[in-house]
Order: sequence, then structure tokens, then C-alpha cells
Amino acid sequence: MTRLLATALVCALMCSTPTPAWAYLKFGVQIGSTVRDVRWNQTIRYFVTERAVAGVTATEFRDAIGRAFATWTGVSSGLVRAELQGATIATPGTFDLRTTLGFLDRPDLERVLGATSFLLDATTGEIIESDVFFNTRFDWSVAASGQPSRIDLESVALHEIGHLLGLGHSAIGETELQPGGGRRVIGSGAVMFPIAMSAGSIADRVLQPDDEAGLLDLYPSTAASESSSISGRVTRNSQGVFGAHVVTFHLETGTLIAGFTLSRTGEFVIAGLDPGPHLVRVEPLDDADATSFFTGDIDVNFQVTFARQIVVAPRDGSSDDITIEVRSR
Ligand SMILES: [Zn+2]
Repeated sequence: MTRLLATALVCALMCSTPTPAWAYLKFGVQIGSTVRDVRWNQTIRYFVTERAVAGVTATEFRDAIGRAFATWTGVSSGLVRAELQGATIATPGTFDLRTTLGFLDRPDLERVLGATSFLLDATTGEIIESDVFFNTRFDWSVAASGQPSRIDLESVALHEIGHLLGLGHSAIGETELQPGGGRRVIGSGAVMFPIAMSAGSIADRVLQPDDEAGLLDLYPSTAASESSSISGRVTRNSQGVFGAHVVTFHLETGTLIAGFTLSRTGEFVIAGLDPGPHLVRVEPLDDADATSFFTGDIDVNFQVTFARQIVVAPRDGSSDDITIEVRSR
């Protein structure tokens, strides 16, 4: 068991298929001619199932889920709230207007650790219900420092609750092909990277700057004014490039925050940045399973390219639009 893929099953029962809206990615839903963020507009009231599995009691499950929620809601107090309502015998993945997290037998999904589904309001993009299941096909652990050959429940919960909040996948990470097929994570710069750490690891119990930027973009602080952002366009022969991964590196703090070009015109906006000087790099998304990010065909036929100049993200607002011209490879 070398490659573990955590995916988001996005089931929007009352609207068209959600499409990526902006960086990190956030989920978006097309309403008329605009794309609205998929997000919660009120306190998330959630239930946990009473089901236990080998290695994890129902109480331990509840507590691990509580810690994962607290990690997200603690990013910046008061922006997004979650409250445990109690235990339930309901099954996650059934739309009953109750947000439910629990174990589920999915032996058919042999590489999926867990998944998140949504019920959305088709007119606003507001999340009405979101369920998360953890696949009983795997061996789970809640041990404080992890357990060899068992998957850390809190780490996967942190990833899936990121989806539940409205975040898509981040591409900040490196993988290598395994001899038997599949990929192994060598380094990850985001909990929202779509391939989980190896069994035994608890590294993904902690959010990274890219995850926090995504959350702050989706649930901005009311006290703060506009956050710092960098915007621009990726082109090849002056035509827009779709699906390019745009990575910003803050030269003083060393934080990595990334997004994508999400239209045929090649435009991007990366928000939630710390103000200051950034190195901006554009790369094709060829180190992971592109279908876990995008449903359409994306362009990967270009060379890694850096912006010609250091780009300064101003304290409040966006940089001047930059254009990064890439070459075919
Ligand atoms: Zn995922």
C-alpha cells in the first residue's frame, strides 16, 4: 500500500457540476453568468457516527474530528465556526440535511481514504449539508504520535474538512513514481495536496501557509480590509494557458502559496498573501493526477518559467497585473 488518494466527491444535487473558481482551488458553482464560491454562511452544525473500527473507538473518532475542526476554525477566530451536535446512527453520504462524518465500508474504492460530498443551494452556492466518510478498507489510528502501517485519522480528517469548508486541492507537493505503480509523496506544502502521506505519518495534522491562505480567501476576516494578492496572466505565443500552476514564494518569510490559471485567457489571482516581495514561478501540473484538480483538459506542454521581476504584493490590494510568457517544451 503505497499510494493513497483522498478525493472529493462533489455531488451538487440541485445545480450544475461545480467548477473550480479561483486559487488553491476553491469550489465554485455557476449561477447564471457568474461563478459563486461554495461556502458556509452560518455555523457548521455537524454529527459524528457512533460506529467504531479496530483501533478507533467512537469517542476517539469524535475527538479526532473535533481537533481537526478546531485546527481550521483556529486559523483566524470567528470567521468560520463548527459545533458538534451529537452522535448519530445515520450513514455519511446520505442527504438528510445533517452534516455527518463517519466510517463507511467502501471496499470498491481501494485507493480512497475518504471523501466529502455536498448538498448546495443552487441559487447562492451556500453549503446546506456536507458529509465525510472514512473508508474502513484501511487501518486507522488516533495514536498521539502515529502508528506504523496505520493511517492517521486526524490528518485525513483535516484534509476532508478542508473540502467540507469549500476548498479544493492544492498542487504544492512533489511525488515520485513507485515501481509497482502509483506515487509516493516526497514533500508536501499543503494539507490539501491530493495524495496523502504514508501510513504512520502525522505531518498533515498541521496546516501549511497555502491551506491558511485558501481559508482566509474563502472566509475573510471582517476586521481586516482587502488582503494582499498577486494577479496576472500566463501566456504562450500571446495566447492564454489554462490550468497552469502558479506558485508564489515570499522572499522574507519563505512561505509558498499557489493557485492556477482557471480560464482560457490564462488569468490568475493568488490572494491571502503576506505583503512583500515574491518570486513567482509557473509550472505545468504534471507531477500529480490532473483529474483530481480539473475536469477539463489542461495545458501541460510548457517549460517551468519564472516571472522576470520580483513581484511585490502591496499591503492592501493586488499587484499590478503581471504577464508570464512560457515556451513549449
Ligand atoms: Zn481531497
